[in-house]
Amino acid sequence: MKILTHNLGFPRIGAQRELKKALEAHWKGQSEAAQLLATAREIRASNWLSQQKSGIDLIPVGDFSLYDHILDMTALLGAIPHRFEHTGDQVPLDLYFAMARGTVNQPAMEMTKWFNTNYHYIVPEFDHNTRFHLASDWLFQEIKEAKVLGINTKVVLIGPLTYLYLGKEITPDFQRLDLLPSLLPVYREILQQIVALGVEWVQIDEPILALDLEQPWLDSFTEAYRALNDTGSRLLLTSYFGAVDHHLALLENLPVDGLHIDLSSAPEQLESFLTRNFSSKILSLGCIDGRNIWRTDLSQKLENLAQTVSRFKGNLWIAPSCSLLHCPVDLSLETKLDPEIRNWLAFSTQKLEEIATLGLGLYQGKESIQEILTASNQANQSRKTSCRIHNPVVHHRINHLTERDSQRTHPFAIRKQQQQQRFNLPLLPTTTIGSFPQTSAIRQVRAAFKKNELSHLEYLSAMRQEICETIRKQEEIGLDVLVHGEPERNDMVEYFGEQLWGYAFTENGWVQSYGSRCVKPPILYGDVYRPEAMTVDWISYAQSQTSRPVKGMLTGPVTMLFWSFVRDDQPRADTALQLALAIRDEVTDLEKAGIGMIQIDEPAFREGLPLRRQDWQHYLDWAVKAFRVASSGVKDETQIHTHMCYSEFHDILPAIAELDADVITIETSRSRMELLDAFVKFSYPNEIGPGVYDIHSPRIPDTSEMLELLKKASHHIDPKLLWVNPDCGLKTRNWPETRTALQKMVDCAKSLRSAL
Ligand code: GLN
Ligand code: ZN
Repeated sequence: MKILTHNLGFPRIGAQRELKKALEAHWKGQSEAAQLLATAREIRASNWLSQQKSGIDLIPVGDFSLYDHILDMTALLGAIPHRFEHTGDQVPLDLYFAMARGTVNQPAMEMTKWFNTNYHYIVPEFDHNTRFHLASDWLFQEIKEAKVLGINTKVVLIGPLTYLYLGKEITPDFQRLDLLPSLLPVYREILQQIVALGVEWVQIDEPILALDLEQPWLDSFTEAYRALNDTGSRLLLTSYFGAVDHHLALLENLPVDGLHIDLSSAPEQLESFLTRNFSSKILSLGCIDGRNIWRTDLSQKLENLAQTVSRFKGNLWIAPSCSLLHCPVDLSLETKLDPEIRNWLAFSTQKLEEIATLGLGLYQGKESIQEILTASNQANQSRKTSCRIHNPVVHHRINHLTERDSQRTHPFAIRKQQQQQRFNLPLLPTTTIGSFPQTSAIRQVRAAFKKNELSHLEYLSAMRQEICETIRKQEEIGLDVLVHGEPERNDMVEYFGEQLWGYAFTENGWVQSYGSRCVKPPILYGDVYRPEAMTVDWISYAQSQTSRPVKGMLTGPVTMLFWSFVRDDQPRADTALQLALAIRDEVTDLEKAGIGMIQIDEPAFREGLPLRRQDWQHYLDWAVKAFRVASSGVKDETQIHTHMCYSEFHDILPAIAELDADVITIETSRSRMELLDAFVKFSYPNEIGPGVYDIHSPRIPDTSEMLELLKKASHHIDPKLLWVNPDCGLKTRNWPETRTALQKMVDCAKSLRSAL
């Protein structure tokens, strides 16, 4: 039987980040809108043709975006927040970018994480006065473009419930779900226009189905899809990032023509769909991981699919698990990767070829794809046995870990006394989060060294000079606990990954983070092993320059994991533990070198939380354990710090307390310390440094403002447990700002100290 192959979405930034370059040139006023739009059109065309070449039957249109696909939906639906004072009927490009990036008069719309990915979307703003109407024809233009190129298209649209759900109410006493009846007619209009353009299928994305949805939202699905049922278009209701079989009864009865399920994040859900009566609908199997970079074991996949085909009575389609937005574009651009490692990988283009191959194999039999299967088998066999991946030294250590390895010698109360004796810090000690301004001079030195234009010795002395000056400046400002300033780090994960075994780096493995911003996550492919110390030399040098304590600075195992592409051949918990051991060795080496305070940053700790509550505890258990293994190898008198860049802790505080860091620094300045409440309610036992000013903006707060925040904190928290610091690292700020702000911060601490 012919199985239809399709794709849910293709990366839109361009294989060489062409869109990023075009956007940024336009924003700087260096190019006209027409030029930007022409680049965008070229990227779309090249994406479509490449997918067609891969052999995919149904190719998505509407997955492209100049900035963000939720913002596109806001534009399409004309749901422009009133504060942008827009009156026209259509959304012009400058308004679109104003919503995304703000103007002199209006801050940008809020941006937040797209489910459990590192992509960020623009949050729609709703109130009583929100009205919807068709306000952009971009989508329809794109459909026409694809038609001209002879592309067999399926339109991608964010579903009405997900669109509302992802937005926020900006006035109280109002619920955004109430907007549904006024939203549906516009959706109908959109669908009718799509039909009029000759497109049969619409992929309507409702990823919120993978969340724990409250009943009113669930109930609304039936109402919504009944209303969209008779426009003449065929709807493929699309879920991803998790199981949706907890809504089985609802899905069965929903008047849609097909359903896409993610079998990569939730393979076990397939059974429910096979045993229930879904044969009147098309079932689309998301059978290749759209969020990772691993080559698929095609033989095994083909066997599984063949079984599924034989059991399912209705029509099956196959596709990647989710949009390929979260995967780099094309592996063939990676010329410098080690060939053995490269052979284990597949980026978007390769993944689509895999889908097409599977489609062919199911239709014409295994023999028709024998050559490809053989290559895939070889690659997978090599991954199972390669000594680049499997390191017995690491396994031995993991197998011999004991309870004691995740426990400090004594509880916090005892450690605190010993640390107090050792450091003799004043009340409300002042410190920073680690990085100091990354000046262009520093960047140039690093880049020149990388290109071999600077010798090792020249590099070493340039960095040491920078560290030395940073120490001097901190002493002048009067900070109590100093840092080396992180000048040698390009990025907090990459810096460590480059020195560990088991990590690989790509040249073009870019993934969109938001707007024109991309990240290039390293690839964690093998057992993690630390061949030698990674930071000891820099930190010891910094300590040699001052009599005040210098805090060593490391990235924690959970963050190392979440900001990388991770291996899929072992549970993430195991990989986290391997990372933890590498960090643990660094921690103990720092201790041996006489460093008394060590900070292990975990900004991604909360990010790792699974989408559904029922899965939280399992995650928290292994994440906490990884942190504890990383941090527990030291003596009582060594002080462990951690840092998290947010302040939403109310629902995970028990786990945060279990980390048992001696000091935690958090972001609280933007929430004006309100979120400290969670710590107070929970009687958080260890020391806390709530950020007293926002480093994300160039604005320097008044001393009185900082003092007020600090006083507020000291009312909530025992001053003996309180630290004073900014809310994150200072690498994006300049020196004059930094100096002034920190000076004020130190003054505030001193004045409150004397008043206590
Ligand atoms: N130590 C890092 C810095 O100061 C922490 C950055 C982060 O939390 N994202 O830059
Ligand atoms: Zn931070």
